[in-house]
Amino acid sequence: MNVKEALQLAKKRLKQCEIESYAIDAKLILKKATALSEVELYTKENVVLTQEQQSIFLYDLEQREQHKPMAYITGICEFMGLPFVVQEGVLIPRADTETLVETVLQYHKKEHFTKIIDICTGTGCIAISLAKYSNIALCGTDISNIALETAQKNAQKNHVLIKWLQSNLLESVPKQHFDAIVSNPPYIATEEIQTLMKSVKDFEPHLALDGGKDGFYFYQKIVEQGKQYLKQGGWIFFEIGYQQANAVCNILKQNGFLNHMVYQDLAGLDRVVAAQKPFSAIKTS
Ligand code: GLN
Repeated sequence: MNVKEALQLAKKRLKQCEIESYAIDAKLILKKATALSEVELYTKENVVLTQEQQSIFLYDLEQREQHKPMAYITGICEFMGLPFVVQEGVLIPRADTETLVETVLQYHKKEHFTKIIDICTGTGCIAISLAKYSNIALCGTDISNIALETAQKNAQKNHVLIKWLQSNLLESVPKQHFDAIVSNPPYIATEEIQTLMKSVKDFEPHLALDGGKDGFYFYQKIVEQGKQYLKQGGWIFFEIGYQQANAVCNILKQNGFLNHMVYQDLAGLDRVVAAQKPFSAIKTS
């Protein structure tokens, strides 16, 4: 099989599987197997694939036909203009999450954060991009080993130093005060997971998606535990599901947080909630 035939075959098979991005994905799969550049796919179209290249190509093609996300096939994705490695077992960073990072950076201009913790860090995309685009000291936690391994690789890849801790939320984090807590926790209601796209529900870790019965389990826990870890006047920033703003603001209010703000993603959907821990009440007696 030569390059031209391989490309045609991949496009045809992915289109048949109703994969919308079939043309781009076909190229990516072929580029990965052959190490050819975009231009070479056309200037070297008569070059015959080696046995090894062909078997990698056919294997990846089959995986994509089963709707495995491209990021798991190529092992790489982009977030905030930075490269991140990903592997199965860790959530693929989403463009929506850039709204969360941008909101924190916006608040930083006024608040001058020095120390932030990112809870449920996954690939580390939030902590790493905050560290890359500011001088804030970052700590990232996750319960999953594979997430922390990936996050460590990503910090190296992006040349930033971050303190990683394996912890169930804040349980194993030594007592200290942060200027802000940031988190994109799992927030899909358990029974909704089955309604997600095949590429998500069959391939991405449910541990990183499942937000409990109503989807709010982790917000509740992080707010309750987080109060003790925030300095007075410290901030909490959450990514939320587009219909969760009111409920998450209520959890924050019930826990004494003030100054709630809701921010939208590029699609105009509610995506981020920010709120502030009060400064201590002035004693009146
Ligand atoms: N913080 C990571 C991300 O935004 C992982 C989120 C998660 O595991 N729910 O991609």
